[in-house]
Amino acid sequence: MKIAADFFNEMKRNESRGRCLHFERGERCNEIISAHSIQKSNQLGEIAEAGHVYRITAEMSVLRDNNWQPAPQKIGWKKASTFSGFCKYHDNELFKPIDNYPLEPNSEQVALYAYRCMCREYFTKENVATSLKNFINNSALHAEQKNFLEASYMGHSLGFQRLQYHKKYFDAALLSKSYSEFQFLTLTSNSPWHLQLSGVLYPDFDFLGGGLQDLGDFKSPLDFITFFTAPLAQGWSFTLCWHASSNNSCVALARSLASAVSCGASPQDALLRFSFSCCENHAFRITWWDSLPVLAREAILSRVALMADPEAPVPSDYLAKGLEGIAGWEVENIFTTLTATS
Ligand SMILES: [Zn+2]
Repeated sequence: MKIAADFFNEMKRNESRGRCLHFERGERCNEIISAHSIQKSNQLGEIAEAGHVYRITAEMSVLRDNNWQPAPQKIGWKKASTFSGFCKYHDNELFKPIDNYPLEPNSEQVALYAYRCMCREYFTKENVATSLKNFINNSALHAEQKNFLEASYMGHSLGFQRLQYHKKYFDAALLSKSYSEFQFLTLTSNSPWHLQLSGVLYPDFDFLGGGLQDLGDFKSPLDFITFFTAPLAQGWSFTLCWHASSNNSCVALARSLASAVSCGASPQDALLRFSFSCCENHAFRITWWDSLPVLAREAILSRVALMADPEAPVPSDYLAKGLEGIAGWEVENIFTTLTATS
């Protein structure tokens, strides 16, 4: 256990090692802050009750206390979703159009939300790769442990390289203010807002169960999509956004959602299914969860457990089926950059 404790300490050291990931980082980055990947007052504050929200987690301490199953954990809303990935100057300056104004949505705002999703993932992936790299040389490791960590480092290092590839496209587009290089699909709702999230995904299967790309292909770059909830002037929204360099899989993913809905599938079921299958960076309203039927709560938790299990194969229809009738909100409008021919 000493080795495990040492490794978690190394991880914590890297997580607290703040750095600015802004595309123009440099001399001005003199004060790293604890930035919110989900907005504090406009989003987390909207669903907090008595200062707290829930997040389903599969962290070791939670698994140990819950019969090795993921479980919701109460966390203070001011601490939820923070990461030390921007300096105060760049965070304030870059994200003004989304932190101070509701989503219209316009292309600049959507690109900024997407950038924040991508940077949080970059920060996390870099931390894991660095922690493993530093830890491999720990003299207390046995040969077998060392081999295991080296293999793990190779995998995480590759994951980080995949993200570096996409960050270059995002950085260049934001630097030149070429926001139209981002495509998006935004679904809006006026129903009560219970769930907040921001995340990223290499899409593998679409909303109809069709295959999109082989995540085991290590020779070519993978298409990459971001997603997030955001406040509107009236109501709230759920957006899928990607850079044009990932059009191949991401246009197909977005189109499959439209096709599923036109064939009678419920868009709110699809979004809830997507959220709990693909996003660990989420928060939801405590009384919403507590008021769900036991079967609904169990269905959500077993979906999270399935997706978190590295040994369980991902079912090809994981975005097409499951978690129906739980969402309790209605999708009203859709905004998209997709055209009939794109
Ligand atoms: Zn900075």
